[in-house]
Amino acid sequence: MHQLDFTLSAGPVMATPRTLAAMGEPIVYHYDPEFLERFRRVEKKAARVFQTKNDVFLMQGEAILALESVARSMVTEGMHVLNLAQGVFGKGMGYWLTEFGAILHEIEVPYNAAVSPESVATYLKGHPEVSMIAMVHSETPSGTITDCEKIGKIARKHGALTLVDAVSSIGGLEFKTDAWNMDVVVTGAQKCLGGPAGIGMVAVSDRAWSHILANPKAPRDSYLSIIDWKIKWRDEGRFPFTPSVSDIYGVESVLDQLLEEGLENSLRRHARSAEVTRVGAVAMGLKLWPASVDISANCLTTIALPDSVNDVEMRTHIRERYGVMLSSGQGAGNLLRIAHMGPSASGMYPIVGLAAVGRGLIDKGIRGIDLGAGIDAAMAVLGRNGGTS
Ligand SMILES: *Cc1c(COP(=O)(O)O)cnc(C)c1O
Repeated sequence: MHQLDFTLSAGPVMATPRTLAAMGEPIVYHYDPEFLERFRRVEKKAARVFQTKNDVFLMQGEAILALESVARSMVTEGMHVLNLAQGVFGKGMGYWLTEFGAILHEIEVPYNAAVSPESVATYLKGHPEVSMIAMVHSETPSGTITDCEKIGKIARKHGALTLVDAVSSIGGLEFKTDAWNMDVVVTGAQKCLGGPAGIGMVAVSDRAWSHILANPKAPRDSYLSIIDWKIKWRDEGRFPFTPSVSDIYGVESVLDQLLEEGLENSLRRHARSAEVTRVGAVAMGLKLWPASVDISANCLTTIALPDSVNDVEMRTHIRERYGVMLSSGQGAGNLLRIAHMGPSASGMYPIVGLAAVGRGLIDKGIRGIDLGAGIDAAMAVLGRNGGTS
């Protein structure tokens, strides 16, 4: 097997040397005054990236833990929840909501499409009983986005709370928690932030807190409890349990790197990497998975595969022969994913991904791929306006 040279997967992603160095700092006691101060500092830096004045909590565990926690905390018995399902994560949220006691309403579209704000508005008109809308900002397995800004407006007008999985978008795609009326938002450190996979970050609005604290079903005295983080940690200064000190160092470092670069610059970098990859893929003769560019997420490019090869086989082949780690479709379809997340959303990384996918398909006997034309077109976009500087 070729050594691993490039990690272009959809999270966890490669970390910068600065992030790795931060995670190698001496481990201290979590009640050391310097660590306590650091923990609070990280929460404040995270809030800047979420673009919120709300509380942001750092929940120990992969982002999935934070998502389960907020879903359990928000759902009251018999609550009518509208779930927007345009991919694997959205669909999965619907199963959870039902299990936790919600009466589920769902708008589902094929996994290469996006739920339109208009369809949400129409649905709500016919269903005044809906009091929460759940959505996924960036549906990572299929590479599509949801128009959270417009849906947030519609939700507020209707008087519904919003629950948003923004795990793969914050830091790389525009997301304005407060300006878009997003009540409960979850992100992870291991996608566009380029950090460790051990911390979920959660923003909670005052409206959502009133709802959660009044919900007898919301987890309390539990690993899944966000209430514990609010009451024990935020109000009383006690950790509910021991946080991973090294992960917190890593999260602070990636937030620092992002804030020093500037959020706008990071969004531009992710957008350019995505454009380079899309243009190159099309010029090479490949087919993009999302139905249109305007619903494509800039944190990754999803490429539809011909029926004669499958995604896991291609991912394995490309890793073995070329040392490039990509992601497969994770159940969304027969597709490969070249991610542009954090450090991989820069410079030549998209070109590496394109070359590996194009040549990998040629190796498998797929005809009609013009590798040279694809790379040439991608490089032209990369070099536009003076290049990557
Ligand atoms: C990565 C990701 C998560 C976290 O889930 P994993 O299965 O651990 O990767 C949740 N939601 C979205 C949209 C993600 O991209």
